[in-house]
Amino acid sequence: MKFVRSSSLFSKARTVIPGGVNSPVRAFKSVGMEPLFITRGQGARIFDADGNEFIDYVGSWGPLILGHSHPRVVEAIQTAAGMGTSYGAPHQGEVELAEMICQAIPSMDMVRLVNSGTEATMSAIRLARAFTRRDKIVKFAGCYHGHADSFLIQAGSGLLTGGVPTSPGVPADLIGNTIVCRYNDLDSVRTVFEQMGTEIAAVILEPMAGNMGLVLPDIEFLHGLRELTAGHEALLIFDEVITGFRVTYGGLQNLLGIEPDLTCLGKIIGGGLPVGAYGGRCDIMRMMAPEGPVYQAGTLSGNPLAVAAGIATLKILEAGELYDDLETKTYVLETRLRTVFEETGLPVAINRYGSMFSIFFTEEDVTDYESALKADTRMYARFFSGMLERGIYLPPSQFETCFVSAAHDIKDIDQTADAVRQVIEAMA
Ligand SMILES: *Cc1c(COP(=O)(O)O)cnc(C)c1O
Repeated sequence: MKFVRSSSLFSKARTVIPGGVNSPVRAFKSVGMEPLFITRGQGARIFDADGNEFIDYVGSWGPLILGHSHPRVVEAIQTAAGMGTSYGAPHQGEVELAEMICQAIPSMDMVRLVNSGTEATMSAIRLARAFTRRDKIVKFAGCYHGHADSFLIQAGSGLLTGGVPTSPGVPADLIGNTIVCRYNDLDSVRTVFEQMGTEIAAVILEPMAGNMGLVLPDIEFLHGLRELTAGHEALLIFDEVITGFRVTYGGLQNLLGIEPDLTCLGKIIGGGLPVGAYGGRCDIMRMMAPEGPVYQAGTLSGNPLAVAAGIATLKILEAGELYDDLETKTYVLETRLRTVFEETGLPVAINRYGSMFSIFFTEEDVTDYESALKADTRMYARFFSGMLERGIYLPPSQFETCFVSAAHDIKDIDQTADAVRQVIEAMA
């Protein structure tokens, strides 16, 4: 397989865009390669500048649950574009999408639309801080909530000593306000609340973690967080930017039977266009301007194109038996992968839930960031490059989640499993 055109485009890109990409993971750095430049996406497939074809398991990092350029979504966008791309004024589509979201997720009485998941989480913690009149937030190592300053902080030497920034440019003054606990470790959160419970505005987490590779939650951990936050009058924020409408029609919270105070959404609700949303309890959401004093705004928030793509996507998801179908296909893939790895004796941990999965090259179970980091990233890089050569496009990092879409058919699954066998047999 040749990547000549991609390589030349990448050289050009690097002269005008830092690192040649507009979001770092796209650069293929952690697999030691150069990125492919994509020219077209159709169903489960993407095509690159050199004319190579791939079965896509990235799905734009989560939004494309229906696959690329679903005809009904494309049509909705085209129709909307013909009516004007942005008014900077209210329109009916916004209300329709908000109603669909609030109906699908019972904990969301009200919702505000924004343009990205980053904006959603950033606004949600501002609101939580205003509502509780407290400054500190608790997050978990390995969870990603976009790139706002308060989230770019990782655990320091001790749980209670405050964290360290994961990026230069994060003001030192902010560090002490973000406490980083261990995912699936309720005791670590309990300790923090015992020490500073009256200062904590909110606990924010991915109820299923998709940004350290896929890590499933311990249900008792999640119930424990609900009790702990309620007991200390802190808010519980579920970042369902990935899981929202991915695991069921609604949020993972629908399946868990846990109601957070605030929920953040993104990805799927924009049908492949830039959207985010945050919402929750009425008494909290009414604090947002112009109804309340907490400021948050957006020139293109709720724009007709993104809203139309979101509505079209949600309508298809609501109507079909799509989630059962996703479960079946991904289960088949998982089973076939497990057989390959057992037969070749290569140690891996496969985490899967519904249409999401990750293959970690490690002998241990992966249940938090620490255990995820034990995975052999060089093995993953070899695996990734072997799969790419065989026409399978996986996330270019060990610490990301693979997504199966409604457009993948059983032939794609077979082809993928066969490719895994060839690559793993060559590696073992
Ligand atoms: C992708 C993601 C975000 C950030 O969303 P953007 O649209 O990339 O800003 C936030 N939280 C989670 C859980 C995500 O997966």
